[in-house]
Parts: sequence; structure tokens; C-alpha cells
Amino acid sequence: MAEVIDGKSVAEDVVRTVKTLTAELVAKGKAKPGLAVVIVGEDPASQVYVASKSRTAKECGFHSVQHTLPAETSEPALLKIIGDLNADPAINGILVQLPLPAHIDAGKIIQTIAPEKDVDGFHFINVGKLGTGELETAFVPCTPAGSMLLIERVRGKDLSGLNAVVVGRSNIVGKPMANLLLAANCTVTIAHSRTRDLPALARTADILVAAVGRPEMIRGDWVKPGATVIDVGINRIPAPEKGEGKSRLVGDVAYAEAAEAAGAITPVPGGVGPMTIAMLMANTLASAYLAAGLKRPSF
Ligand code: NAP
Repeated sequence: MAEVIDGKSVAEDVVRTVKTLTAELVAKGKAKPGLAVVIVGEDPASQVYVASKSRTAKECGFHSVQHTLPAETSEPALLKIIGDLNADPAINGILVQLPLPAHIDAGKIIQTIAPEKDVDGFHFINVGKLGTGELETAFVPCTPAGSMLLIERVRGKDLSGLNAVVVGRSNIVGKPMANLLLAANCTVTIAHSRTRDLPALARTADILVAAVGRPEMIRGDWVKPGATVIDVGINRIPAPEKGEGKSRLVGDVAYAEAAEAAGAITPVPGGVGPMTIAMLMANTLASAYLAAGLKRPSF
């Protein structure tokens, strides 16, 4: 059976390190890292994510600010808030929780965030830095950055020559994940909905990353024996066995089957999920270190 990659414990390690490095920064007489989280509207899932981000920021010892805005907030009003946060020296990271209401152009909002405060890593400058290998100053999107840390825990930092297959080509997960694996010297293939014979392609992967959004699509016989399997998917499916109307979370990988072939695998929940918030803290800390003229810590 595969080693189970404990994302919860790795995420706790990251948060602990961020807390220590924050205290060191303050001990050097520098300002504590500041994170501003902006949420527009009442989407319940977004509210839970935002509360959790603000709570973890406080736990890290950050200056934490939350802007909770009504759904009818206008685009110019939101742009003004972003502009003010860009200009505020106490803020190192700005996170605008997505999705935004339909009347606001999310792309415009994201591109308005100062690249050096774009701790989500969605600004074109950061996308370009990751694509060109400028990893010293790039902000990398949190979910792929966290997935990479989990891969490194199993395989080490140098992944030279390993075959990696990333299933999914979104801008927030699939593409940045592929770029990180390329930067670590993997031979990378990106698969998507038009890929032919995905099972055969997946079987070539020493590292298989699933970021699709389809419950348990990747079956056990798609997994090369000994492969490292990273399941980014979070899907809620009905669970009548738990009672009427109940549901449960599953990934994009059929876990029980895949764990028989894989060398190491992330569970859902408790794998990639907890890493996302931890890496948001790591990115905010990095932004504060860079703003203070210090080398960014590596994780
Ligand atoms: P997305 O934007 O919907 O992208 C899904 C990708 O999967 C697309 O590139 C799509 O291909 C591909 N795809 C869809 N059906 C496919 C199929 N049958 N065969 C092969 N590829 C297929 O999703 P996302 O934002 O990247 O998220 C992916 C999953 O990760 C979701 O379950 C999401 O909930 C989860 N997620 C988790 C976290 C976390 O914190 N752990 C963060 C973000 C996302 P096309 O491009 O051809 O359409």
C-alpha cells in the first residue's frame, strides 16, 4: 500500500515556520507581515475560506485586515479599495476571494493588485516570472505551490528526469503546477479534456497530478506502480450510506484503487487542501521579507 502524504501535518509545519520567521522579522525591528483579504458578497463557501485565511494570518502573528463588502459593491468602489491597499505600506499581501459577483470584471481586479502584493500569484507579472523561471521573486499560486511541497517531501527537491503528468490546464492549478515541475527538471505533459487515451498517458507518470474536478475519474489501473499521486480535486458527492441527504468529499482519484499501485498518495480531505492556506501565509511572509530588503525564506 502507498505511503499516505499527510498534507495537514505538512501545512502545520509550514504555518509553524511562518510564525517563527515572522517573530524573527519583528525582532529585527521590521514591520510584521500584513495580509488583506477582500470578499464581496455572501457566498457561504467563500465566507468559510476567508474566515479561515484571516484566522491563520492572526495565528502566524500577521497584521490581518478583512474587507467584507456587500454583493452590490461597484467595480470602481472595489478598484478604489485595491488601490488603497496597494499604497498601504502595512499591507504585504492582497487576496481577493473569487468568485466575484458577475457585474465585476475579476480579471481587471486581479491585474490591478500590485504584483509585489499579489500573494495569489495570478497577476500576469507573476505568471510570467513563473513561466520564465524567475522563482526568486515570483509569487506562485498557493495550491500548486503546496502540491509541489508535498511532492518534494516524498521525492526531494531535484526531480531530474522524472515523468510528470498534470491532468487539468487551469490557470490556477494545472498550468502553474506544470511550470513548477518543469523548473524542477521533470519531463512534463499537460493533459486536458481533449487528450487522447488519458489512461495510457497517466501510466507513464512517475508523478501524477489530478486537477480536474471530476469525482474519482482517475482509476487504480491508470497509476504506474510506485508513482507519486497528488489529488488536487475536491468534489462533494451524495453519501446515502451516511443518512438521507448526506454527502462526502472525494478527490479526482479513486483513492482506494490508486493507493494499491501508488508509492505515495494524497488523501481527500487532508492532502492538498490544507496546503493552500499555508502557502498563502508563506507567500505573504515572502512579500514582507522582500519589502524589508531581505532574502525570501524557502520552504
Ligand atoms: P477547472 O478550471 O474546471 O479545470 C479543470 C481542468 O480539467 C480543465 O483543464 C479541463 O480540461 C480538465 N478536464 C475536465 N474534464 C476532463 C476529462 N474528462 N479528462 C481530462 N481532463 C479534463 O478546475 P480547477 O480550478 O483547476 O480545479 C480542479 C479541481 O481542483 C477541482 O476539483 C477544484 O475543486 C480543486 N481545487 C482544489 C483546491 C485546493 O485548495 N485543494 C484549489 C483549487 C482547486 P479543458 O481545459 O479541456 O476544459
